[in-house]
Amino acid sequence: MKIAVFSARNYDREFLDASNTTAGHQMNYFDVRLEAKTVPLAFDSKVVCLLTNDTADAPVLKALAAGGVRLVALRCTGFNNVDLEAAAQCGIKVVRVVTYSPYSVAEHAVALLQALNRKIHRAYNRTRDSNFAIDGLMGFDLHGKTVAVIGTGKIGRVFARIMLGFGCKVLGQDTTPTQEFTALGARYAEPGEIGAKADIISLHCPLTPETQHLVNAEMLSRLKHGALLINTSRGGLVDTVAATEALKSGQLGGLGLDVYEQEADLFFRDLSSTIVTDDVFERLLSFPNVIVTSHQAFFTREAITTICETTISSVNEFAAGKVLSNEIRRS
Ligand code: NAD
Repeated sequence: MKIAVFSARNYDREFLDASNTTAGHQMNYFDVRLEAKTVPLAFDSKVVCLLTNDTADAPVLKALAAGGVRLVALRCTGFNNVDLEAAAQCGIKVVRVVTYSPYSVAEHAVALLQALNRKIHRAYNRTRDSNFAIDGLMGFDLHGKTVAVIGTGKIGRVFARIMLGFGCKVLGQDTTPTQEFTALGARYAEPGEIGAKADIISLHCPLTPETQHLVNAEMLSRLKHGALLINTSRGGLVDTVAATEALKSGQLGGLGLDVYEQEADLFFRDLSSTIVTDDVFERLLSFPNVIVTSHQAFFTREAITTICETTISSVNEFAAGKVLSNEIRRS
């Protein structure tokens, strides 16, 4: 089966090819994103394989369907970039990688948190410049602090377990509370209590119309002064302009981001020789207490292996006319 793989980097090729040795699908790799103008690249393929920043809205899906595409295989968990309604209307099925190493993302959230707290990014630059002064690098013990986990699913629970290991108190917020979370030794709390008590907030819920700008000016104003915010989930959860204002006033004590609401124009590309015109993003980068990584939380050997194996397995099921184990169905 012909698969058009968009947003393909060298590691995608390496790991997808390795997973495809037995199946022998014909892989056509494109380093560009899928969007209206790149749709024709997929025209002789039955399957398109996409990432988080590819666009699969109604016009793109309609054009893909006209070109013969029948399956969208997402090599990620989140599917906020796919119009499921339009896909169904066009006769296109959509599969994703439901689960792949929640440890990869949770551990990256911890890495961002501790880099921010202990100012590792600044210390790294100082020591390389033979500046061994530690003024301005003071952090705080995680032990005894209160951590809020917004979204207590697979990744949120792994993050909670790690935080409990540090000796933190963990509060959760979720539309569907689970016993698996409380069994860890954490408990659920109302937004008011979270705002009043949390020293650290980490986002692990999906981006939906309900969670868009979940972190906004009003929510930020209810936080404990100087709280740290970590977002490894989806950029649209945070109103970046409001977060910038909260950083300027000191209400937000630090921000660790692996995702950014306008990341599609920036991430996964080397723009070091160009002028970045996103002033909101550039302002963020100017804060000493902001760390941004470019959507790399998933990027571990274990996670990529599972992602690629699951993707090829979904295409195998599709090619064989079987029930698709990882199909996203509209609720
Ligand atoms: P999951 O489905 O296991 O958990 C998500 C949890 O969020 C669920 O418990 C759900 O009930 C909860 N939730 C939904 N709406 C909510 C709301 N309004 N308020 C609070 N909680 C809400 O998903 P997961 O595997 O833990 O992944 C979580 C998110 O992480 C994904 O949606 C994706 O956006 C993000 N992600 C990021 C990366 C990365 O590389 N940065 C990689 C994988 C996943």
